[in-house]
Amino acid sequence: MVTRVELLIEVVGCPTVCRHCWAQGVPYQAMPLGDAAWVLEQAHQFCEEHGLGFYAYPMHEVAAHPQAAAILRLFADHVGAAEFEPLATTGVPLATREDWKGVLAAAAELGTTSVWVAFHGIGVQHDRQVDRPGAYAETCLAIQRVHAVGLRVGCTVFVAKPNAPQAERLLGALQRLEIDGMSWEPATYYPTARGRRNERLRPELAELLPLATRIRALSPFHHDAWANLEAHTEAAWARRALAGDWPSELAEMEPRHDDQGLRLVCRPGLELRTGSAGLYRERHGNLRTDVAQIVFGRALQRGGWSTTRCGSGWTRCLQLASWPPNTATEPGRGLTSPKRRSATCGWTGRSGPDAPPRLPADSCRPSCTRERVRVRPDGGGWGTMPV
Ligand code: SF4
Repeated sequence: MVTRVELLIEVVGCPTVCRHCWAQGVPYQAMPLGDAAWVLEQAHQFCEEHGLGFYAYPMHEVAAHPQAAAILRLFADHVGAAEFEPLATTGVPLATREDWKGVLAAAAELGTTSVWVAFHGIGVQHDRQVDRPGAYAETCLAIQRVHAVGLRVGCTVFVAKPNAPQAERLLGALQRLEIDGMSWEPATYYPTARGRRNERLRPELAELLPLATRIRALSPFHHDAWANLEAHTEAAWARRALAGDWPSELAEMEPRHDDQGLRLVCRPGLELRTGSAGLYRERHGNLRTDVAQIVFGRALQRGGWSTTRCGSGWTRCLQLASWPPNTATEPGRGLTSPKRRSATCGWTGRSGPDAPPRLPADSCRPSCTRERVRVRPDGGGWGTMPV
């Protein structure tokens, strides 16, 4: 039974397109402050009237919103400010906007003591990984600005093939920037088209092993990964996926199932879907053009189906004739059983006896994402394609 709603609201896109991004962040226009306030009010009201807990977070890069300070206060008013400690950002907006002091002051008023940025290498190497010329210099400037207002700075370093040889130089640069805390992590595996395109960036074991001891001494994070790098190679991921041992690191990407949180995402045009930012599942309607309370009600009633009970999981689409029978979509290949795979990630064959009656082909169309994972004849393949 659902006991709480977890709503991500896409209030503004990113100035960068970071390759590692689990949330598939891209640039898009800011949602007006009034719209964000209205969505939060509607969602909060719905949850109170239905006895549900309520959580919300602004995506994708809140510091880039033209009214970032007001957005931070707005979300904090509804759900508390705990999620803004630390405040996560690429740093680019803090370097490029004139009112950066106001944004940082608003965060500090809410209790933020640290801002957390990310590095993918030095100079152009970083710029390339986030697809923005000058991003490295901007992030460095943002760090100086954060320090200037008395806040601390932490950073994540994503160690990939291009920056592994730069590790010592990058560490020196971060120390000169007087970074207060660091988290170094090996490039993470994500079963998205974007993640798979960048799979060639995964460092080889031989590139990581010489760094492991030093990084474990420097950073209190991800010690388990650095102590067992063999488990983070591409070959190891592939073995786990085929064995049905889906990595727990990916839990943040998946709509939750078998727990009590219903994860919803409100897109910039106020369309409501089950899913997460960048990973959109069943569409429940548009909060602006349909009646918001009815749309939330539909999400509550049907949202769980799209992640727990339907033959094709994410979209509730029927299996198409062109889908190879009993072939898991790639995101589903790692799950533990055919039933589980079909229930959460895509068609793999017959779903279990708890599946609801199959819908006629036309009836599920309006709510489909009209996308599915492309499956090669050998069962591989990671992209999406329209249906
Ligand atoms: S990592 Fe953050 S800033 Fe980069 S694309 Fe993703 S959401 Fe945007």
